[in-house]
Amino acid sequence: MTRNQGINNTILELVGETPMVKLQRITKHLKGTYYAKLEAFNPGLSQKDRIALHIVENAEKKGILKKGATIVETTSGNTGYSLAMIGLVKGYKCILAVSDKSSQDKIDLLKTMGAEVHVCPANVPAADPRSYYEVAKTIHRKTKNSVYINQYFNELNIEAHYRTTGPEIWEQTQGKITHLVVASGTGGTISGTGKYLKEQNPNIKVLGVDAIGSVLKKYHETGELDLNEVSPYKIEGLGKNLIPTATDFDVIDIYEKVSDKEAAFAARNIVKKEGIFCGYTCGAVVQATKQYAEQDYFDENSVVVLIFPDHGSRYMNKIYNDSWMKEQGFME
Ligand code: PMP
Repeated sequence: MTRNQGINNTILELVGETPMVKLQRITKHLKGTYYAKLEAFNPGLSQKDRIALHIVENAEKKGILKKGATIVETTSGNTGYSLAMIGLVKGYKCILAVSDKSSQDKIDLLKTMGAEVHVCPANVPAADPRSYYEVAKTIHRKTKNSVYINQYFNELNIEAHYRTTGPEIWEQTQGKITHLVVASGTGGTISGTGKYLKEQNPNIKVLGVDAIGSVLKKYHETGELDLNEVSPYKIEGLGKNLIPTATDFDVIDIYEKVSDKEAAFAARNIVKKEGIFCGYTCGAVVQATKQYAEQDYFDENSVVVLIFPDHGSRYMNKIYNDSWMKEQGFME
């Protein structure tokens, strides 16, 4: 571990090596010991710094990205922020194609971080030339010296976590971890981290967290994409309506699905009880852990690591806003 030892040359040297903290109150009534790995301690406030940096540096090594080149991706979320930050430090242009469902706050934040943002209609099919997927591909095709990050279908997403998050957790728990609970979006975090840990100890259980309204759990159980599972939901970054190749389903033992409401209250509870100002999917991970505990997944000897993906500051207008909670019907 080198983080915080002496002077770092750029903020990018602070990516990874995030701290782990014992949960003191919210899991008190559950059997076992519970640790949260706080990915908000990355400089971009989320785990996405790891994959963004790994994919960019890989492209540099391959000679695809040279100074003054362009990074292209299709997200208004944490990956977009990480890429914009990396672009500023390394001198790359960052172009993000985002859906018009993205909040103005998010678009303004990405612009503040120097990204060029293309807002695309959300209500067109993915194959439509106006969709954010197609817009990003076109920008990539037309821009020399550009790299398309393509996080849902890029195996480097898994590799980033295999090389960093997995070894960190193994070292931090001194090999004592018995269960890993992880929110699954692209699946890079759960697959890479889980694969590394299972290689160290095949008895470790990798427990996934999916959203009600997403296809991942059903696909894991049946091997088939069932679009009847799809319905709108509010948690960002969790679950999906397609099958990402950045998920290695063989690494995952089981999934639990969580509701928007329970995940929101779980996040608010983490803040109040632990003093950790955490993002919406941290709530999802804690809620899923409770659901796993109700099914007797853990005993007194369990050492359970929960990955907390990002920081609460990104959700001030959502789960930490009572008016928003009331609008969703979550509060009276
Ligand atoms: N939580 C948040 C807040 C995220 O932004 C993401 C990334 N989509 C995830 C969880 C899931 O991580 P992964 O994509 O590695 O599965």
